[in-house]
Amino acid sequence: MSSDPDCLFCKIIAGEIPSDQVYSDEQVVVFKDLHPKAAVHLLIVPREHIKSLNELEEQHDGLMAYMMRLLPKIAKDQGLDNGFRSVINTGPGGGQEVFHLHIHLLGGTGLGSAFL
Ligand code: 5GP
Ligand code: ZN
Repeated sequence: MSSDPDCLFCKIIAGEIPSDQVYSDEQVVVFKDLHPKAAVHLLIVPREHIKSLNELEEQHDGLMAYMMRLLPKIAKDQGLDNGFRSVINTGPGGGQEVFHLHIHLLGGTGLGSAFL
């Protein structure tokens, strides 16, 4: 599985940089965002280093579907019974700061009702 030694999230996945992990399996790691924008703010991060949605290939279809189906399970585990928001920033124009694909999962107090 590809990884990038200079990538922050690859370092977190490798345990070289600490994180507050809430879930992990063979395909993904889920940890708390360092600067939470809501009571619950998690990052669902594939173990494979994929820079962004722009670099996705057909071989990643299963992984992406897997992460989508994982979101509501993680949200339920976090007690987000009333719903949650999921966000993927892509590229500098989309506000992406860490270039290792990840899904933000947000919910609970502090999350506005507006779309963005
Ligand atoms: P992006 O803007 O790329 O979609 O999101 C990157 C996210 O990573 C930001 O919400 C930021 O707060 C979070 N982040 C940046 N550095 C770290 C870190 O070292 N640890 C954790 N847990 N989150 C980080
Ligand atoms: Zn990476």
